[in-house]
Order: sequence, then structure tokens, then C-alpha cells
Amino acid sequence: MTIDRNPAPPMIDPFGRAINYLRVSVTDRCDFRCTYCMSENMTFLPKKDLLTLEELDRLCTVFVEKGVKRLRLTGGEPLVRKNIMHFIRSLSRHLQSGQLDEITITTNGSQLSRFADELADCGVRRINVSLDTLDADKFRRITRWGDIDRVHAGLEAARRAGLKIKINTVALKGFNDVEIPEIMRWAHGLGMDMTVIETMPMGEIDEDRTDNYLPLSLLRAQLAQQFTMQEIAYKTGGPARYVEIEQTGGRLGFITPMTHNFCESCNRVRLTCTGTLYMCLGQDDAADLRKPLRDSEGNELLATAIDNAILRKPKGHDFIIDRRSSKPAVARHMSVTGG
Ligand code: SAM
Ligand code: SF4
Repeated sequence: MTIDRNPAPPMIDPFGRAINYLRVSVTDRCDFRCTYCMSENMTFLPKKDLLTLEELDRLCTVFVEKGVKRLRLTGGEPLVRKNIMHFIRSLSRHLQSGQLDEITITTNGSQLSRFADELADCGVRRINVSLDTLDADKFRRITRWGDIDRVHAGLEAARRAGLKIKINTVALKGFNDVEIPEIMRWAHGLGMDMTVIETMPMGEIDEDRTDNYLPLSLLRAQLAQQFTMQEIAYKTGGPARYVEIEQTGGRLGFITPMTHNFCESCNRVRLTCTGTLYMCLGQDDAADLRKPLRDSEGNELLATAIDNAILRKPKGHDFIIDRRSSKPAVARHMSVTGG
């Protein structure tokens, strides 16, 4: 890596937060149908609405020039988008120039056997792999279409490739709450960090979210009966707050959008595969970047549109899981905006 001698100043939102982290949902499609994330019969965005990977590259590059230091690719399942590795390789030029600190990816792990080596070769150093259970039958039930053996093979390939792995687990009452200590021991035993996530009310699914909602404050109290947890200052640039578990020597992160508002330190914005920029995961306001991208070959219109969007970044989300209403707080699925 070369040192960037003229680093761009970060973009600053109206609440004084520096925006240096961009999450890009490269596709809304997925080879799984996790029950809390998608309905079984999803209507995906028409292919014609998608930005090409060249267009997404141009957009990401403008963000990098505006001071974004971290890029996370997500989806949908990012590794099912055609030619995704070509895109990542192209973006890696910003790592080599020193303008970008890291490119990371959030994946369900199904395609990692194929791509782990190449990801490492492109300069990806750490990845998040989502896994909500270690039980093959339960895994099939929660993902509807997933095969846990493929995920294990993918994890193995990623470890061999030297990628640092964090396991993301959505805490689901009555599904995996009692299994979380076991998943954590397994992850820590293999040298992987783990983060637990509260379910967020995003997008229509086929079930009632209140049935599965588990406040992490409760989970934490349960874990405290079995484990000694030491709060640590460790940060990865994301919203998780970490503890170290004395018994395993590993790190456990809590992402608590519902019970503990994490918005005050929010440093990120989210770009969809159609070029829509969401300034907050939990709000509907968005900026269309596709038009300024396509209206001009130069990047001035785009840069202005991004500046204007950042000025509209809200203070925080209004998530609430409402027992009286079955409507999600935000109509779009997590797979559109990217988790
Ligand atoms: N397909 C990839 C994966 O599963 O890691 C990336 C996209 S997925 C939308 C990103 C993360 O969001 C996953 O860890 C998933 O478990 C989480 N997620 C999806 N829907 C969610 C919801 N409604 N509330 C909380 N987390 C959710
Ligand atoms: Fe696909 Fe990830 Fe959503 Fe599961 S959580 S359906 S793997 S996008």
C-alpha cells in the first residue's frame, strides 16, 4: 500500500458526524431466503434498473475521492452478482493508492469456497459471514434454501486464504437464543469474532416479527450468567459494541439498533444497486444518484448530489417493533439497502 499524501477531508453531516464509510448493496438478489429478511416469493428489482458494475465503480470512486475510507459490499448476496470479482479487483486500486483503508464484504458464505482466495488476493482482509445456527435442519429452516455444509466449506476456504472472519448472528427468540453460547464457543474456538444483531422491522416478510424479536439486553443478561464479559474499546468502524469473553478469549459484539440507539456515532451511508443513496438504514429519505451519474460523463453533478444528500442525513432512525401493527417500520427489505 502507498500512503495517500493528500487525503480528502471527510464529508460532515449536519450533526457533525464524519461520513467515511460506504456500504454498497451490489444486488438485491440472493440464493437464500432467510425468513426474517425476505418473503419466500420475492419480487426483485428489474434487471434493467441495475447500475452496471462500471457505473457502481464510478460511484464508489467518487465517494472515495470525497473521503470515504471504508467500503463494505453487501446485498442481497454480493457474491452471486455476475462478475463481482472483476468489480472488487477494480476497486482494489484504491487500496493500492492508499486512498481507501479497507474493502470488506458481508456474505452468507455460500459462494466463499469459490471466491475466498481471490478476495484475499484483491486485498480484502476481513469478511463478515452471517450464520444464525449450527444445526443443519434449523439452518435450512431459517434460510429456506441454504446448505450449511457449503457455508462450512466456505468458512474453511476463507480461513485458509487468511481472511479474518466475523460471524454475524441475528438473535431470534425461540429459534437460536439458547444456541448462541454454543455458536459463540464454536466461533471463538476457530479464532473468529462474533456479533449478535437485533432484528429490525424492514420489509414485509411471511411472519410476525414480534414473535421472534429478542432484545439484546435480555440476551446479554442471560450470557452474563454463564460468561464473564469485559467491556472493551475495540471498534471495527461499524455500530457493534464489543465485550471480551473471559472463558473463550474471544470478542462478542452487540448491534442494538432497537434497544440502544447507535445513531449518534453513525459514520455511514448506503448505496443500492440502482444508485439510490440512503442516508439512514431506518428512514425512507433517499437521494437518486443514477440520474446525475448518467446525465454527465464528468463527476461534478454526482459530487454535488452526494454533498446535498449528506446535508440531509437524519439524526437517527425511528425503528419500533409495533405489536398493534404488522407493517414494518421501513417498507424496503434489508436486502435492498444492504445490512
Ligand atoms: N446476504 C448477505 C448476508 O446474509 O450476510 C449480506 C446481506 S444481509 C441483508 C446482511 C445482514 O443483515 C445479515 O447478517 C443478515 O442476517 C442481516 N439482516 C437481514 N435482515 C435483517 C433484519 N430484518 N434485521 C436484522 N438483521 C437483518
Ligand atoms: Fe440473503 Fe443475507 Fe437476506 Fe439471508 S440475510 S436472505 S442471505 S440477503
